[in-house]
Amino acid sequence: MLGLMQTSPLLISSIITHAARHHARAEVVSREIDGRIVRTTYAALERRTRQLARVLLALGVQPGDRVATLAWNTARHVEIYYAVSGIGAVCHTLNPRLKPDIVSYIANHAADTVLFVDPSLTGLIETVAESVAGTIRTVVVMADEDHMPPVALAPGMQLLCYETLMAAADADYVWPVLDENTASGLCYTSGTTGLPKGVLYSHRSTLLHALSVNGADGLGLKARDRIAAFLQMFHVHAGSIPFLAPMAGAALLLPGRFLDGPNITALMNDERATVGWGVPTIWLGLLRYLDEIGEKLPTLRRVVVGGSAVPRPLLVRLEHEFGLEVQQNWGMTECGPLGTYNQPTAQHEDLEEDAKLDLQVKQGRALFGADVKVVDDAGRELPWDGVSAGALLIRGLWVIRNYFGPDAAAGAGPDGWFDTGDVATIDADGFVQIVDRAKDMIKTGGEWISSMELEAIARQHPDVDDVAAIAVQHPKWMERPLLVVVPKQGRTPGTAEVRAHFKGKVTDWSLPDAVVLVPELPLAGTGKVDKRALRERFALHLLTGEEAAAAGE
Ligand code: AMP
Repeated sequence: MLGLMQTSPLLISSIITHAARHHARAEVVSREIDGRIVRTTYAALERRTRQLARVLLALGVQPGDRVATLAWNTARHVEIYYAVSGIGAVCHTLNPRLKPDIVSYIANHAADTVLFVDPSLTGLIETVAESVAGTIRTVVVMADEDHMPPVALAPGMQLLCYETLMAAADADYVWPVLDENTASGLCYTSGTTGLPKGVLYSHRSTLLHALSVNGADGLGLKARDRIAAFLQMFHVHAGSIPFLAPMAGAALLLPGRFLDGPNITALMNDERATVGWGVPTIWLGLLRYLDEIGEKLPTLRRVVVGGSAVPRPLLVRLEHEFGLEVQQNWGMTECGPLGTYNQPTAQHEDLEEDAKLDLQVKQGRALFGADVKVVDDAGRELPWDGVSAGALLIRGLWVIRNYFGPDAAAGAGPDGWFDTGDVATIDADGFVQIVDRAKDMIKTGGEWISSMELEAIARQHPDVDDVAAIAVQHPKWMERPLLVVVPKQGRTPGTAEVRAHFKGKVTDWSLPDAVVLVPELPLAGTGKVDKRALRERFALHLLTGEEAAAAGE
């Protein structure tokens, strides 16, 4: 038909090409492994990305192959995001905080062929080398020759140096025109049963997500912004910041492995950040540090928070003491990641302070391209009255259809609605508020702990008859695991000995913080343990050492 518009596919390479052409001098600033600040520009980064594409091809990476990263937020990691997806391969971000056996499970499940590793994380590769040698043949350390650590790999695996490979590669590569539904990125989500499942993003889903999130009622980055990315690039593309910033031409500030108060303050203040995005634990830690040294954040204007609910006192302090605008969003690995973003509507303009805060602690409204609803146990949609709570379902242009590979039987329903495992209300203006969690997990400082795994280990303790692992509130980590134990007759297992029983079976950060003894566990109507009741009863246990009821909640 005459008169149609152009139909070029939605490709990730177009983001970095755009940044290099139209925001050539905008900066990418990273804190390197040794703490040095290194700066580059989008023009220089894009050129290196094309060199890296040549490196990948020379290593034999084929379209569709999974190329893994085990790395912090650095410019090299951004280069890998673009080069791998740009040639039609899949960038698979591994989480270095997981137990080594889970890391190797995921690498084998994904059938990663090449692994890029940050020099500070090579110890983990040495630990898993034998168990991943069947799939990963090449390990590239993201450093120059001067910073190459000694790394012992398994026989048959080759060890290479990133900058040596780059120095030998031409930048004459031309990004291919791929089908926009080509897979581009792979992220694993923590499974409630202990085994993670993969979510495979496409060029199309990534691009549409970034376009929508960067809308005015979303992140709305501008070319004059400088965004500090404190979300990890090994978690759901760091909220997509490595795509959002170059798309807008905003400077990208990357903290490397340094997420402590002094380093993130220095990164934001020295590098004139205007926006910072991180999980609540990051901002809580930052405030503790700023309180100690009495420093402010003179250039920062906006704090974006997601991953866990924003505590009201955090919001109040950031807004009132630091004069910052705080914006919450909600997302998950299965939806690329953002589904909602909290910006007020016209109805909220004249709200009193308290009512405004009531609104800001909500998770926000659906972004264009995503739709949400809450349903009862029978799957019937509940009214948008801000009170009726039910399972939160989402569907949209960047929402999962099926999990990756052998787990493809699970995913969204035939109508596209995906059950998030969160329990929420939606108000008349479409603001979603998470009120509980149906998935049996504990989210601590942005990382997941499986309740079932903790319970299975606790049951092996000779004094434990029955047990429930639940999330309780924590001032720094938002949630920590508490074990509610029914002891065997005449036994009184204490926190220290139960924790000792867990040592070595889970990562140190997964150890339960405390043990409380109860004569029996409450049961819900279905005959299962009523975790909701337990969560309510012990919510404040770590804050007050008492049950919520006793604290007058
Ligand atoms: P993940 O897949 O690891 O990104 O975790 C996604 C889950 O984190 C969601 O399903 C929620 O349970 C939780 N989550 C993310 N953002 C928020 C938020 N703003 N408030 C409350 N929970 C959140």
